[in-house]
Amino acid sequence: MIIASNFKTNHTRQSTALFVNEVNDYIKKNNISSEVFVFPTATSLDSFEVVSNFSIGAQNAYPIVTGSFTGEIGTSQLDEFGIKTILIGHSERRHILGETQNKIAKKYDFYKELGYKIIYCIGEPLEVKNKGLDQTLEYIYEQFNEIDTKYENLILAYEPVWAIGTGVTATNDDIENIHRAIKEKFPKPLLYGGSVKVENVREICQIPNVDGALIGTASWKTEDFIQILENTK
Ligand code: PEP
Repeated sequence: MIIASNFKTNHTRQSTALFVNEVNDYIKKNNISSEVFVFPTATSLDSFEVVSNFSIGAQNAYPIVTGSFTGEIGTSQLDEFGIKTILIGHSERRHILGETQNKIAKKYDFYKELGYKIIYCIGEPLEVKNKGLDQTLEYIYEQFNEIDTKYENLILAYEPVWAIGTGVTATNDDIENIHRAIKEKFPKPLLYGGSVKVENVREICQIPNVDGALIGTASWKTEDFIQILENTK
């Protein structure tokens, strides 16, 4: 299993450090075989002692080493923190922050060339889901435009937009059908994301072709994230 926590704009440096240290200790002491990722805010990427039992990733960065891109960070900052994992294509960046497929693909290429592990997110909004499975898959496949899906350090995350942060999870049948279709075309580890929580993570992770979960809201409390790891070990 691959289990990832996306902090979004939650947690301070202090609370990130507490979270990371506790999770690190828990993994060390409890024989957790899952591959675990935590994506804190950019301001907290160095707020803790070095972790040895899981990976810290960046929620976002600009495809540049250093340059004039006000408000962004590049690889010269990520390098300082030893970050080698990045989330790309998250629905909030696509739909709220306006990243186009073309920009996302350029970012993907840049980080791929540097050998970063990439968690690449895809997923449809509600109006597309309501048109049925064929249209949903067509929409999702377009999110692979200009993306080299043969990249060895690629993990995919299927995250229906209407399920993210809403408390509404896709049905097991929906997850199974969409994961099967994505995996047939793009045989890479594939996570599900969208209102995964302590209570449903085990069942979701047992659906065929689900290789783990990318979790926002339900992963922000340390005890909940630890329980999620416990439920998927
Ligand atoms: C996410 O941010 O990737 C996510 C899946 O959020 P949530 O778990 O809150 O739906």
